[in-house]
Amino acid sequence: MQGDEKMDARKQEVFAAFCKKFGWKCTPQRLAVYNCIHGNRKHPDVDSIWAEVKSKLPTVTRESVYRILNEFAGHGLIWRLDHITGARYDSNTTPHGHFICEECGAIADFSLELDPEKFAGQLEIPGVIRHMEMRFTGLCPECNK
Ligand SMILES: [Zn+2]
Ligand SMILES: [Zn+2]
Repeated sequence: MQGDEKMDARKQEVFAAFCKKFGWKCTPQRLAVYNCIHGNRKHPDVDSIWAEVKSKLPTVTRESVYRILNEFAGHGLIWRLDHITGARYDSNTTPHGHFICEECGAIADFSLELDPEKFAGQLEIPGVIRHMEMRFTGLCPECNK
């Protein structure tokens, strides 16, 4: 057995266990989406996942890939990163953090005690920093009522 095949077989086993746990049917679509996202470190969007899945299952629709991804995210299998696309603009350019409400999209500032430049110096950043921001998402007080 080739290394790739061996890994695919292993992934399939792991995925079959998830399906059993969540009571899902282990469909070719779900398996293809799982194989595509599992171990992918590029934070892919739905379109790039769809493109990869389509190369194996040509009839799969963008809607089903989207639905499967959200299903995975809803069960904690993957994370869904929201509020990344769709630009928002900020007139405050001094170092500060953002709390973003996942429900209403409100963005509130909070002050940072730590110096982001010093903080970044302690991390192994895989690139050249051009923007620094600390971001939390959750529910604002209004939406949490
Ligand atoms: Zn809110
Ligand atoms: Zn701000």
